Amino acid sequence: MTESRIIRDFSRESSLINEVMSQLRDVDIQKSRSVFSANLHRLGQMMAYEVSKVLPYKEQAVTTPLGVSKCQVLSEQPIIATILRAGLPMQAGMLSFFEKADACFVSAYRKHNADDSFSIQLGYHSHPSLKDRILILCDPMLATGKSMVAVYNQLVSEERPKTTHIVSAVAAKEGLEFVKKEMPDAHIWLGAVDPELNSKFYIVPGLGDAGDLAFGEKEQH
Ligand code: URA
Repeated sequence: MTESRIIRDFSRESSLINEVMSQLRDVDIQKSRSVFSANLHRLGQMMAYEVSKVLPYKEQAVTTPLGVSKCQVLSEQPIIATILRAGLPMQAGMLSFFEKADACFVSAYRKHNADDSFSIQLGYHSHPSLKDRILILCDPMLATGKSMVAVYNQLVSEERPKTTHIVSAVAAKEGLEFVKKEMPDAHIWLGAVDPELNSKFYIVPGLGDAGDLAFGEKEQH
């Protein structure tokens, strides 16, 4: 990476992102599935705006009713990737701001073993070529970081993007350290960093199960 790595934790900054984060975490506000999803969508929009500030732009002449204006427009469109299913509302928010971006979908889940450990099972993936593109991977919860790294490694196994950004609502300290080590070139944008994981690898205090809160509880297999 030529430029230095960006790591932003918006809980350390004055930002409206903190207002959204407080609503995402609030058990009472979480009772409305649609409000929870709408808040993830809003967070995706705000993160899109923050990431947009470091993307490349080019000049474009735009004809107005009164003349020609030299405008700055994105010189290339990013690919916005998410991990099914929890990431869907945040990805939709990002895509509503990056209106010409491409989308990428990957499925991954934790397969729990009898000894409380787990492995990441990867499945469906659908995306355009990643070669030399700007890849934005959004997933609301960066808990252990293992899903993020497994998904990234699968995505880049054949074609490497030129820049990668990770966008999450909450990261556990442990997950952040893992991702920093395993994805040394990725820029990281976070709503907050929380201190720990519980025995089931949920972030504490975190916000709970983002997928269940947005879409309803799932049957455990
Ligand atoms: N996934 C979630 O939805 N929540 C967590 O705390 C960890 C992983």
